[in-house]
Amino acid sequence: MSDKKTALVTGGSRGIGRAIALKLAAEGYRVVINCSGNTERAEQVKVEIEKNGGEAHVRAWDVSSYADTETAMKEIIKSFGSLDVLINNAGITRDGLLMQMKEADFDRVLDVNLKGAFNTIRFASRQMLKQRAGRIVNLSSVVALRGNAGQLNYSASKAGIIGLTKSAAKELASRGITVNAVAPGFIETEMTEVLSDEVKEESRKNIPLGRMGQAEDVAAAVAWLVSDSAAYITGQVLCVDGGMAM
Ligand code: NAD
Repeated sequence: MSDKKTALVTGGSRGIGRAIALKLAAEGYRVVINCSGNTERAEQVKVEIEKNGGEAHVRAWDVSSYADTETAMKEIIKSFGSLDVLINNAGITRDGLLMQMKEADFDRVLDVNLKGAFNTIRFASRQMLKQRAGRIVNLSSVVALRGNAGQLNYSASKAGIIGLTKSAAKELASRGITVNAVAPGFIETEMTEVLSDEVKEESRKNIPLGRMGQAEDVAAAVAWLVSDSAAYITGQVLCVDGGMAM
């Protein structure tokens, strides 16, 4: 086994997760790409990384399942010998106004976005504590800070991510593990592609830098937070939003 550091990126098959996987692989990490369901897109990211001379592996499971996360993460740690970086990027939306929101849509968004991050941190931290080193970055959102009509479930899950980040940062700091959150604004991915042109235009008006962000903008911030340069930064929320949350 090489002495490469191992980075796990949940939801790494497309969008922001894909950009993070490519970026970390380019920086020399062995990247484990998690996704749920069909692995075709994740396999494409793996091929792209390998074409660029990097190392990648695909592991499919639903991060909202505690039991499946335990099984998968134990196997990953056993296979690669260490877990140095964990990026909790997997996320979903089930938008709707409060009065119409179905209980199942509230529960599913909280299960994937918030409990999913708890599940992975639960099993990653055990290994990172042994290593006395580790970097965790959780994907929040500007709507965690500002709220958003029609996204009560999603903004609650992303606000929960901030509390979880800060508490985990306090618990793990003494062993050299940092835990931070990145809060993207409006990023051009398949998650936002489905929004109407009207909603996109309205959102663009609220971005001081005047454009939607790219997945690579977020990946750059994540890569910096896991680098040695950010060793003294923990429990923080870094907005990558063109100034939206100011
Ligand atoms: P996306 O929908 O393009 O990708 C989401 C990824 O998560 C996919 O790879 C999908 O397979 C994976 N996923 C979904 N449910 C999963 C589960 N149960 N288990 C494992 N993997 C699962 O989304 P994106 O736009 O790239 O967003 C990535 C992250 O950034 C999300 O957490 C999202 O909430 C957050 N974010 C995005 C934006 C934006 O504008 N796009 C803004 C703020 C925050």
